[in-house]
Parts: sequence; C-alpha cells; structure tokens
Amino acid sequence: MDRLKGKTALVTGASRGIGRAIALELAREGARVAVNYASNDAKAKEVVQEIEALKGSGLAVKADLGNAQEARAMVKSVAEQFGHLDILVNNAGITKDSMLAKMTDQQWVDVIQTNLNGCFFCTSAAIPFMSAQSYGRIVNIASLNGQVGAMGQANYSASKGGVIAFTRTAALELARFGITVNVVAPGYTDTDMFAAVPQAIQAQIRAKIPAGRFAHPEEIAKAVLFLVADGDYLTGQQINVNGGA
Ligand code: NAP
Repeated sequence: MDRLKGKTALVTGASRGIGRAIALELAREGARVAVNYASNDAKAKEVVQEIEALKGSGLAVKADLGNAQEARAMVKSVAEQFGHLDILVNNAGITKDSMLAKMTDQQWVDVIQTNLNGCFFCTSAAIPFMSAQSYGRIVNIASLNGQVGAMGQANYSASKGGVIAFTRTAALELARFGITVNVVAPGYTDTDMFAAVPQAIQAQIRAKIPAGRFAHPEEIAKAVLFLVADGDYLTGQQINVNGGA
C-alpha cells in the first residue's frame, strides 16, 4: 500500500478490461489516476467512482488516441491538472480482424493508428513533463500476438510488434532523463476484446495455454505495478504475462 503515494498516472483505455484493472491497481497504491477512454462515458465514470471508493483520486479524460491532436492535448491537460505526470501506461488498443487476403486498407490503418501511433502520440507528449522532472515510468501494453503472430490479425500483430520495437528505442533515448520504458505483453485475457472471439476458437486457444486458462486483467495489472513501483533499474524490457503460452 502507498508505494505510489504522491505519484500521478495516466492510463489509456482505462474504462474497461485491462486498463481498468491497471488504473485500480495504481490507485490502490496511492497514485492519482487519469482514466482515458474513447466513448464509453458511463464506464469511465464507474472506474473513477471505484478509485474514489478506494479513497483515491481519479479523473476521467475522453480522447481518441488515434487523433494526434486529441491525444497530445489530453496528455498535456492531465499533466497540468495534476501538476506533474509520473506514470504513463499506453494500454488502449483495438482489433479489426480479417484474413490478410480480405483485409481492407481501413482495417489496417485504424488498428495501426490507435495501437501504435496512439502510443507514439501519448509518449512524445509526456516526454517534456517527465524529462523536466527527471523521472518517468512508461509501460506499453503489447501482446503475445505481437510476438508470435495470429491468424486474421496481421494489422494487430504488426501494431503490437511495433510497440515492442518502439519501446526498445524509447528506452535507449530516455534513460538519461530518468525515464524507464518497458512492455507488458499479455496473453489471452478475459475482457470485452477477447469475448468477441467465437467460443469454439476460444476453446482451441485455451487448449494450447500451459496454464489451462485465460488471464484475469488483474494479473496483467500486477506486472505493470511491479515495473512502475519497483523497476527503477529496468528499462527496454518485456514481461510476458501469458500462462506459459
Ligand atoms: P477492451 O476490453 O476492448 O478495452 C479497450 C479500452 O480501450 C477501452 O477503455 C476503450 O474505451 C479504449 N479505447 C479503444 N480505442 C480507443 C481510442 N481510439 N482512444 C482511446 N481509448 C480507446 O480491451 P482489453 O482487452 O482490456 O485490452 C487492453 C490492451 O491489452 C489493448 O492494448 C490490447 O491490445 C491488449 N491485449 C489484450 C489482450 C486480451 O486478450 N484481451 C491480450 C493481449 C493484449 P471505450 O470504453 O470508451 O470504448
């Protein structure tokens, strides 16, 4: 408890799923947390209420991360409202699955724009605030499927592989400013995103996971907490939270 007291955090895509669990985990440790979301006002408000129920302080911030101006303005506004920005978790992500032969340009562009470009927009906007205070913790949420590929996910796999490569260079460039940049790569996790996968395919996937089950969002959040609370000398690394997959 209170390992993040005095710290501020922005978690993108925190109205639901993994982002929500990360926001709550950071709040439980005393951080003030901005909950970014795209459209679901009610769910984002609920997360802020859950943070307040933990005696924490939360802020809902709507912005489409695929829009460079909105994303950058959101980061700046959070840093200014909190007075400083210590932790950025680039979690927001979408899927638009299709076999490559049928994938439209729009499906490709939308997924790269949110998952990879959005990560760049938020990170670059956070750098001036973090470097000025010689402290920052950035965690990018990638995916098992950015490491191994997955049928129907050429756009998603490319975006998440890009996030991993982006993280390595960001870590090299930002270490001198006291900013660490790491990846948490979840395996299949029980959220709305994964619920969209047909049951028969879910069963096939589950059968290949050594742990025999999907991850709970809270298990991904614990890895993020480790990196931001205890990872002072850890940068440019990946933690794979995938049940052995
Ligand atoms: P989810 O349940 O679908 O939630 C997605 C979150 O992202 C929501 O808060 C949504 O906001 C927000 N979002 C979507 N597009 C956005 C945009 N353009 N701008 C701002 N926010 C946006 O997803 P999840 O399963 O928790 O996934 C979270 C992250 O983990 C993603 O990066 C995903 O790729 C990664 N991941 C997930 C799994 C899995 O199996 N679930 C596995 C590996 C990696 P609204 O509520 O407003 O729509």
